[in-house]
Amino acid sequence: MNLVIFGAPGCGKGTQSERLIDRFGFYHISTGELLRDHIARQTELGIIAEKYISQGHLIPDELMLSIIDVLLDSPEVKDKNIIFDGFPRTVKQAEELEKLLVKRGGNVDAVIGLEVPDGELVERLIKRGKDSGRADDNLDTIKERLEVYHNQTQPLRDFYNERGSYKAINGSQSIDKIADDIAAIISAL
Ligand code: AMP
Repeated sequence: MNLVIFGAPGCGKGTQSERLIDRFGFYHISTGELLRDHIARQTELGIIAEKYISQGHLIPDELMLSIIDVLLDSPEVKDKNIIFDGFPRTVKQAEELEKLLVKRGGNVDAVIGLEVPDGELVERLIKRGKDSGRADDNLDTIKERLEVYHNQTQPLRDFYNERGSYKAINGSQSIDKIADDIAAIISAL
């Protein structure tokens, strides 16, 4: 099974992914975490990614897609149930993900959309910045990331709605209630 956990920065994708790993044993692919790990190690990819991430911009589709392509064939990911967290983020990435999965005999089974109003997202991200120290959780970069989300990522709602795989969840509820709503969707698949 391949799930996408979808929504704006700060909507709770990471928190809910952790719950899903504990409850259902998914393999978690968080492209944001993967890139931050490369930045911390100052790899070639990390040095390139840092420039985009610090400005709140997306890294180029081709680069992101080649990373996912390689990752899907790695022994730790192969044949696992996967949660994609923070990917896909553009229509191009969604189209290519579909091809990458079909090639391997799979598909995107459901896209769980955590829907949270912008004002609440900004508050959450500023709070997270204080706790996590993430360089991109400052007000200017947060505003840019939300704009990028609305322009480039939100259109994926229609993309997956047309395919019947988009499942909206009220992301303003308690963490436990959201986790239960997601579990109910997965159980019904
Ligand atoms: P996240 O932790 O998912 O909020 O991602 C942090 C940052 O990493 C984003 O603001 C982007 O700069 C970059 N990033 C993460 N995932 C992607 C992706 N699928 N495509 C392009 N850039 C990404």
